[in-house]
Amino acid sequence: MRKNIVAGNWKMNKTLQEGVQLAADVRQALAAAGAVKCDVILAPPFIHLTEVVKTVGGQVEVSAQNCAAEASGAYTGEVSAAMVKSTGCTYVILGHSERRSYYGETNAILAKKVRLALDNGLKVIFCVGEVLAERESGKHFDVVGKQLKEGLFGLSAEDFAKIVVAYEPVWAIGTGKTATSVEAQDMHAFIRKAIAAQYGVQLADDTTILYGGSCNGGNAAELFACPDVDGGLIGGASLTAEKFMQIVTAF
Ligand code: PEP
Repeated sequence: MRKNIVAGNWKMNKTLQEGVQLAADVRQALAAAGAVKCDVILAPPFIHLTEVVKTVGGQVEVSAQNCAAEASGAYTGEVSAAMVKSTGCTYVILGHSERRSYYGETNAILAKKVRLALDNGLKVIFCVGEVLAERESGKHFDVVGKQLKEGLFGLSAEDFAKIVVAYEPVWAIGTGKTATSVEAQDMHAFIRKAIAAQYGVQLADDTTILYGGSCNGGNAAELFACPDVDGGLIGGASLTAEKFMQIVTAF
């Protein structure tokens, strides 16, 4: 069944101590809020994972922001999917636009990472999204369709069921410029249709598709009310428990 999810991507922010404090604040705020209508995921930097898993105590799932494209070996500075899994973490974000643009991660590299993540028992939040020039030239559906096809559609249906898709228009990430609810819904419907064409309507209907890009307490409710928007991948507004909770409680 399709789940609502709000996931906080802390990116390269917070020392270990600050991160543990933020995780504790989120845990406390969730306890105070009572039942919420979504699953909550926190994605801190690698070195925080073990401590954040302990701090959230099972109320919140924890995600890495990346993992290596190789299983193990002489890859200095890399962190493997098996290592991520061994922290108690359950998700990994793959294909974030910052990874694609700053670190040259292609769809082919990402398909390898997805395979390794799934083989190691991790669920994947797979990011797709177009840059501004691609939207302005009307190529956004083609770009996202290609990212899905090359990054994910080699998977079996059984494996695809462990994927959460995050649509993150690159021009909206960290810019304060959010996609309108119509733009988000149009792309989310396109993504769901592409999944249906590949895997059938049932699996498409069960897939969680998140929106990401300057989502905040002021715009989350309108975005989440769209029929194909099942929650958010949140950057800046996930860095304080108060702002993050405004989004978690927006359903
Ligand atoms: C992100 O980086 O995944 C993101 C959505 O960032 P922001 O919310 O800051 O735009």
